[in-house]
Amino acid sequence: MANIGFIGLGIMGKPMAGHLLRSEHTVFLHTRSGVPDDLIAIGGIACVTPREVTRQADIIITMLPDTPDVEAVLFGEHGIVSGLQADSGQFGARRVVIDMSTISPLATRVFASKINDIGHDYADAPVSGGDIGAQNAALTIMVGAEEAIFERIKPVLELMGKQVTHIGEIGAGQVCKIANQIIVSLTIEAVGEALLFVSKAGADPQKVRQALMGGFAGSRVLEVHGERMIERRFHPGFKIELQQKDLDIVLTSASALGIALPNTATVHELYNACIAHGGAKWDNSAIVTMLEKLANHEITKKTE
Ligand code: NAD
Repeated sequence: MANIGFIGLGIMGKPMAGHLLRSEHTVFLHTRSGVPDDLIAIGGIACVTPREVTRQADIIITMLPDTPDVEAVLFGEHGIVSGLQADSGQFGARRVVIDMSTISPLATRVFASKINDIGHDYADAPVSGGDIGAQNAALTIMVGAEEAIFERIKPVLELMGKQVTHIGEIGAGQVCKIANQIIVSLTIEAVGEALLFVSKAGADPQKVRQALMGGFAGSRVLEVHGERMIERRFHPGFKIELQQKDLDIVLTSASALGIALPNTATVHELYNACIAHGGAKWDNSAIVTMLEKLANHEITKKTE
């Protein structure tokens, strides 16, 4: 049994922390928007700062929106580092900070080295599987860490995910997540184009979606995002402002490596267009609404 800290209790963090609370562990919680009552009702201990969480925990998990948020929670006033320094040695072992947010791989390496410098360990463990995966403890978790650290944190990660993979050293989890985001965002856009075409051609998008699920075009994106596009359900899910942040990370990293990702850049522009139309908080499946504007046609459901 471990004392675990969890910071960032939004769409993803809240259900993930819930799974830890339903296990044998004691869980200390903090989030800027206030710890939800239902997590406290199942035993969660609310803390007013990341420092207070850290002082009581030997594993500290962050699930925050973006790189500057992780930086602020780690190194800001009343942050994780101030908590690590306040009680250095209390737990006998080195404590581990696990960042499960999707952030820059380059910044991740810098953060990890600063945590190592004060005698503690760090792992990047971003996730895929969305809000549904988080609710069902079925996330795919991609880990960058030293082998021994991975072995130490794996049982905790397995409480939140079905597939937990050690990709490599620090930052490798975020590199893997970039690959995930390229595939997922391009697939969402492809599903949007396909369903738009089908609708304009007069066929039933729901029947086409079901038919294609069994073939090579089948995917979780066709299943989940395709359904949202047909049903016009654009409540997040995965907010477009976070999707755009992820594609910023992808394209900045590609640029640093000196490579071109032309179709990722196009999808990024379509998400920029969503934001220009007030869609920062829409689900990322709403990219289809920009394709609809270009086509001057909206996907329509056939009635039985
Ligand atoms: P969210 O906006 O719903 O939640 C973020 C939480 O962080 C909020 O509760 C907010 O209060 C808290 N927070 C922000 N800044 C803080 C600070 N300085 N101190 C304390 N708390 C702070 O976001 P989300 O959808 O849960 O996503 C979290 C991360 O997971 C992001 O990096 C996202 O890219 C990634 N992700 C999301 C999904 C998804 O489907 N939503 C899927 C995979 C990965």
